Amino acid sequence: MILPEFDYITFSSLDDTLGFLAGYGDESKIVAGGTDLMIKLGHGEIKPHYVVNLLDIQELKGIQVHGDRISIGPTVTHTELAGSPILRKFAPVLSQGAGFIGSPQIRNQGTIGGNIGNASPAADTVPALMVLNSRLKIIRRGEKRWIPLADFFVKPHQTVLAGDELIAEIEVEKLPEHTAFSFERVARRRALDIAQMSVAVVLFMDEKGERIREARIAPGSVTPRPVRMREAERILHGQRASDEVIERAAAEVSERAIDETDLQWLPEYKKPALRGLVIRAIRDALERR
Ligand SMILES: Cc1cc2nc3c(=O)[nH]c(=O)nc-3n(C[C@H](O)[C@H](O)[C@H](O)COP(=O)(O)OP(=O)(O)OC[C@H]3O[C@@H](n4cnc5c(N)ncnc54)[C@H](O)[C@@H]3O)c2cc1C
Repeated sequence: MILPEFDYITFSSLDDTLGFLAGYGDESKIVAGGTDLMIKLGHGEIKPHYVVNLLDIQELKGIQVHGDRISIGPTVTHTELAGSPILRKFAPVLSQGAGFIGSPQIRNQGTIGGNIGNASPAADTVPALMVLNSRLKIIRRGEKRWIPLADFFVKPHQTVLAGDELIAEIEVEKLPEHTAFSFERVARRRALDIAQMSVAVVLFMDEKGERIREARIAPGSVTPRPVRMREAERILHGQRASDEVIERAAAEVSERAIDETDLQWLPEYKKPALRGLVIRAIRDALERR
């Protein structure tokens, strides 16, 4: 792979990085693990003058609990997400999703910020982040704003981020321990293949563990922008998890995915596969509770 010429810029200070982006953001591309960016550079899809490294900035690392939320630095790798004791306890659906990504090498190098920033509909952390009601802290020099994750994406590979901005933090909801969850995924191969479709599910059961108090469902790879399947979630609310109810909710997900998108994204033949995947995810979540 032949890379175009660019200047590689690296600071250990966030302020210096933001200062550089304030002046040269429109000619720059941010890089973290580089597993997506290097491919785009190699294919000539982008030709920035500057590639600005984030990996040396301390403030962008780490996973911390703040009350009922968990703060994740954008340069946290997928290996760290998959292995984090905090996430495995309070947001295990994200650890599970990250564990599916690529191969050990890709998981060691690829970051959560890069997975979001690349804005691929197949990004495996995104459905999990959607069911965790995630939001992003976006910063530029002297300014910060918080946005819900779904509002970050404009269309595949396009985000609301301006050239001088970056994702400084990902905040997710802390789930009560033992909340039912599942992340299911279909790919041609188990390793080194992006998801053809995926779904993240979180189920909050009532005190007796008999009825679903609240359900959250977010599919991946089947809509151009990430969505929560609100109508399917409503079908499950307050219900016992009978086969009939689960199948109705799953059918609603595949119908809604077609409505949200078009048949280019989710051809008719994929509908039963998505329905089956959702049924599997809900049953798996209930069984592993
Ligand atoms: C062989 C292979 C297999 C893969 N398999 C999978 C898979 O199974 N599932 C999956 O989801 N992905 C997969 N990927 C894609 C990729 O590894 C992930 O998307 C990874 O998380 C990208 O992270 P990164 O740090 O390498 O991003 P980079 O390549 O560094 O950056 C990606 C994009 O995000 C932007 N960016 C990075 N950090 C920030 C930030 N903090 N703020 C704003 N923008 C930012 C960059 O400017 C760039 O546009 C695979 C890639 C390869 C090469």
